[in-house]
Amino acid sequence: MTKSHPTQLSPPMAWLTDLADMATPRQVAALLAEYAMAQPECESACVAWGLHGVDDVESEPPCPMDPDALALARKAAASTAPVLSRGGRRIALSLFEPQGAVLLVVPRTSSDDALWIDRIAERSRLAGRHLRRVLELKKLRSALNQQARSEQLQRALFAISELAGSDRDMPEMLRGIHSIVGSLMYAENFFIVLHDAERASIRFLYFADVEDDVTAPRDPTHEFALASREHTLTWYLIRDGKPLHGSTEELRRQVSGPLTIYGPDGYDWLGVPMIRDGHVHGALVVQSYEEGIGYSEEDKTLLAFVASHVLTAMERKQTKEQLEQQVRLRTLDLAASNRVLELEVVERQRAERLQAALFQIAQLATADISEEEFYGRVHAVVAHLLSAENFFIALLSSDHQSLEFPYFVDATQQMQPTRPLAHGLSEYVLRHGAPLRGDMSDFRALGLAGEVDLKTAGSPATSWLGAPLFVGDEAIGLVAVQCYDGSVDYSAADQELLSFAASQIAYSLNRRRAAAIQQQAYAQLEHRVQERTIELRTEISERQRIQELLKHEVMHDALTGLPNRCYLRDRVDRVLSALKRSPNRHCALLYLDVDRFKIINDSLGHLAGDEVLREVARRLLLCVREPDIVARLSGDEFAILLEDAPEPGTAVKVGQRVLAALRKPLEVDETAVETSVSIGIAIGDDRYKTADDLLRDADIALYRAKKLGRGRFEIFDAALQQNAINVLSVQNDLRLALQCDQFEPYFQPIVRLRDGALMGFEALLRWNHPTRGVLGPPHFLQIAEDHGILSAIDWRMFELSCSLAARHLPAESWLTINVSPRHLQRENFDVRLLELLAKTGLPPHRLLIEVTEGSLLDDSQRVRAIIERLRDAGIGTALDDFGTGYSSLSYVHTLPLRLLKIDRSFVVQLGQDPAGATVVASVLALAHALHLEVVAEGIETELQRTTLIEMGCELGQGYLLGRPAPISHWQPDA
Ligand code: C2E
Ligand code: CA
Ligand code: CA
Repeated sequence: MTKSHPTQLSPPMAWLTDLADMATPRQVAALLAEYAMAQPECESACVAWGLHGVDDVESEPPCPMDPDALALARKAAASTAPVLSRGGRRIALSLFEPQGAVLLVVPRTSSDDALWIDRIAERSRLAGRHLRRVLELKKLRSALNQQARSEQLQRALFAISELAGSDRDMPEMLRGIHSIVGSLMYAENFFIVLHDAERASIRFLYFADVEDDVTAPRDPTHEFALASREHTLTWYLIRDGKPLHGSTEELRRQVSGPLTIYGPDGYDWLGVPMIRDGHVHGALVVQSYEEGIGYSEEDKTLLAFVASHVLTAMERKQTKEQLEQQVRLRTLDLAASNRVLELEVVERQRAERLQAALFQIAQLATADISEEEFYGRVHAVVAHLLSAENFFIALLSSDHQSLEFPYFVDATQQMQPTRPLAHGLSEYVLRHGAPLRGDMSDFRALGLAGEVDLKTAGSPATSWLGAPLFVGDEAIGLVAVQCYDGSVDYSAADQELLSFAASQIAYSLNRRRAAAIQQQAYAQLEHRVQERTIELRTEISERQRIQELLKHEVMHDALTGLPNRCYLRDRVDRVLSALKRSPNRHCALLYLDVDRFKIINDSLGHLAGDEVLREVARRLLLCVREPDIVARLSGDEFAILLEDAPEPGTAVKVGQRVLAALRKPLEVDETAVETSVSIGIAIGDDRYKTADDLLRDADIALYRAKKLGRGRFEIFDAALQQNAINVLSVQNDLRLALQCDQFEPYFQPIVRLRDGALMGFEALLRWNHPTRGVLGPPHFLQIAEDHGILSAIDWRMFELSCSLAARHLPAESWLTINVSPRHLQRENFDVRLLELLAKTGLPPHRLLIEVTEGSLLDDSQRVRAIIERLRDAGIGTALDDFGTGYSSLSYVHTLPLRLLKIDRSFVVQLGQDPAGATVVASVLALAHALHLEVVAEGIETELQRTTLIEMGCELGQGYLLGRPAPISHWQPDA
């Protein structure tokens, strides 16, 4: 019953849906390769992508990419047509532009048939489009991951720097650092070790370890000699200044000598040194004892990065404490020398002033003030203690070629511009990395020794004191005071003070520079993050746009812009599942086919054909409104989905509208083209499971519409369909049923409407089907009739019903049996029937035969004769289904009938449709006039019963009064 579609290159929807589901490049490749390999002409196939580099060529299923294959693949990738290898053993097809992926196939034999290559080329194009998308998504995803990672790192670094600036004490800050490291990687076991190079000692500043309780160092101030830890991992870290990472075995290979392990053996160990100015100041270590939890290369880089920040943070934190310590030591020194020299009270007071000054300078070094202000204030403090009328700070330029003077106060000079390095006292201090203190005679001596050239050194000072500024080991500048008038002689104590000021200035400078660099780095990072975020956002929205476009492309037909089959199915599926929730609703699917489209296409050409299809689409759209949709299924097939079609009427109305809309000729190329469409309609209800079921039924109805003469619509009929499917098996089953006695009469009572008194029964045929249950006549009667076994079945029924009625039904009740027209064609029907009655013992006056109007038409003379003979024998005749047939009411009186049965269809209308009542009224009038009894069939409601009584109908039959049932229901001991 299905129509033949033109052979298509386009793949089935199922394959496309599968393709759309593939989320990784490998899956897409596998699907395509699988399809290629399923072709009988294909021996093997694989998809290769990432053809740009040699290293990252991937293939699925994995195939060796030898240089020849690679060359072929690259050649194909740059071409739109399939490329053949030399010798023709391999064919490569490009998957997408620009190059990057190909399908490689090895054909079985060199076949001339290119059709299969066309087929796989079409699939390759589709798969390629999807593959590109999947690859791009993959790239994007990893970029996003990286982005997230760097944002996480940035947050961690900010957090560390904030910790250092906060008021928390050291242990609290270290705990904070631990938790930050924990946010970046597994760090349940974490320690910070500090290294003091001068003292060759280490301290475990912070130590957290879940396993190692025994050897864990608890006291952060406790110093261990570095040598006492010789050949441990920490020792190697500090000695070599290189990160170490891996399992114990791997670590053993990384270190340059024997390895001693402290504490329990771990699963993975990662340590990075904290390095500043080329010196190892300590190390950070994380380790894991858990099988499966380890560290990556990325973790290593991360931890190293964190380490440098931790170092800065700790130094900032330590500064205050250290300063206090330093100041205390120095004043102690001073006090000691005081005691030794037994200095006077003035000197002791000076010592106190000195202590206060040192504190002030130290505080200034970490204060949040500008560089300018810092220098000014240091100058002010220094000036309290020694003659500092002329005071300057000089710094080496970054190229080490000149001296800059960021702070310069002098009695002889407003300011000192940057100058090239020469041979002055400042240069001497820088060169030697040591303070210089002296007077004229000292300078002369230096001049003679060739150390300084006084002529180039600005205005000649009578006394001069300078101290170098150190960053690490390098003197980056100096601070100096000088006197021009011989009034001052700088002392050793002055030198010590200035040196201390120098160290604080250097520290502050260093800190400021580091902070500036860090800030710059943050700003850059921030900027990069912002830039990348914007980039990603546009990339993502572009991607979304493309995806939308693709989705539209996949879901719509390019020619008409209408939704395609895929879209329709999706929609129908959704509507059907909505129907499941509200079973009283219906939808309708109209399946349309443009009649004789092929002729139009062949005679007017494809362009005209396309124009016709577009016009059909336009007209169809005018026949529906939201949310109903018009779709193009293929070639000349369209469909209309009515989401809510309360009764078949709605679908029929739309069907008529469509037929009318397409009856008007189409204008194509100034030619009027006559068209029409055929329509198959299926009404969807909650019994439909999938869109395909509904489409199939509509397609079957369409087939019938075409068969019945095109330009019309047909509604799918489930019973017919079922029958068609079952015809064959039913035929065979029926014969078996006769042999096996599977037929049984059910009896339905006929009663007096007025009081419900039982008058008789109609025997109705039932088939106790071994697998399908009890079947009524509509399921098989026509088939039995068509295959000539109905009369055999009937006689079996007559015999059964008569004998059951004779034995089990009330003696005064009559029995009616249904006699098909065929029997009345037989001259001896009455004789046979009477024999049967004699055999079964049912008195003839208890029997009536039911005949339909149709059976009276054929040879009314003979039929009338049979009926008359039956009447003479006492058997009555009832005219069944009265009103539906051909007879005019008038000819009924010519027949010797006893009973009229008014068809159910009129009874149904009672109380609803006046027309029904009119028929019933006229039948009743006629029957009364002819002295016929009347039975109203199919009474289902009380209203129908009372209406019939009021109209003067005496007898009735129907579900309201009693359903057909086996004899046992009417006579329990039967
Ligand atoms: P029919 O002779 O018009 O029989 C009445 C049909 O209406 C029966 O259907 C009965 O079950 C049904 N009916 C009774 N009351 C109601 C009601 O209140 N509402 C509705 N909706 N239906 C009601 P059934 O049994 O399916 O039989 C269908 C037809 O098959 C019969 O129509 C009759 O033409 C034929 N038939 C039945 N038994 C035999 C038989 O033994 N031999 C032959 N040749 N035909 C038979
Ligand atoms: Ca009947
Ligand atoms: Ca009937």
